[in-house]
Amino acid sequence: MKIGGKTKIVGIFGYPLAHSLSPHLHNAAFVELGLDFVYLPFWVESKNLDLAARAIKSLNMVGVNVTIPHKKEIIPYLDEATPEARMMGAVNTVSNRKGRLIGHNTDGQGFIDSLKEEGKFDPRGKRVMLLGAGGAARAISSVLIREGIASLIIVNRTQRRGEELAHHLKRIFKNMCPIDLVEFSKRNFYGGVREINLFVNATSVGMHAEDDLLINLDLFPPGTFVYDVVYNRRTELLEAAEERDLPCLGGLGMLIHQAVFSFEIWTHRKAPLQKMREAAEKELGMGKRGT
Ligand code: NAD
Repeated sequence: MKIGGKTKIVGIFGYPLAHSLSPHLHNAAFVELGLDFVYLPFWVESKNLDLAARAIKSLNMVGVNVTIPHKKEIIPYLDEATPEARMMGAVNTVSNRKGRLIGHNTDGQGFIDSLKEEGKFDPRGKRVMLLGAGGAARAISSVLIREGIASLIIVNRTQRRGEELAHHLKRIFKNMCPIDLVEFSKRNFYGGVREINLFVNATSVGMHAEDDLLINLDLFPPGTFVYDVVYNRRTELLEAAEERDLPCLGGLGMLIHQAVFSFEIWTHRKAPLQKMREAAEKELGMGKRGT
């Protein structure tokens, strides 16, 4: 990669960023297509988010990804948000269109593409249990409802955040899908668990080897699909699913697919998906298709 006077700049705003795979994915894709772009990490603390957002314009950047803890907080600093980002109330990609900052969200579509293409699982008409109510859970629950799931059970450690998510979804989707909010302490006693078709872990639990397994998979009906958004390692949740012969998938595919959409927003070129996957797997020290 050669950086010169005309190199276009994209990057990621977050805090911390030490383990971010995004620079590896995007820079590998720019090299693959011979594009004069570079993707840089920007460690932005919450107190500096307004300055950082203004810098996208003043430094004439093409755009940025936005990650923890800024996905909701960036919205007031943008000029517009796409219907997708408004539906989710969260932004993971910003594009600078002639000095106007547009907020997009590619996480949800990244999840759906991964679930359908890699998981061969169509969520339409399915009963879903979702663990988490943060940024990932927001994106995933919105797209699942839009895809026509039959029902949604939300469980979150902090009840208030779970309520906020359920309220947000009911406001956006009205009566499109019945939504139950189950207290965290009751998650393994709730009868509805015995009827689900898809379980999604959208919490950060599983990122570390010492993390607890948050759900009793023996309650799931045979064939329940288990999706874990965690992508940095093979989680205990996925191992427990495999032990019970349940179909399952880790979050690397979601990460790659959301990156593909961001790349295409910034460059207007078709992203080299396979190259991006290889870059992510190399960085994680995995063999091919290691999730
Ligand atoms: P967030 O901080 O907005 O939300 C974190 C969620 O995890 C909350 O619901 C919180 O209640 C829950 N949680 C944290 N610790 C917990 C514990 N010990 N017990 C129970 N619940 C706990 O973060 P986020 O942006 O929603 O990200 C969540 C996870 O999703 C992270 O691991 C992140 O890396 C991953 N993620 C993956 C992708 C992908 O493309 N695969 C995209 C976005 C996020």
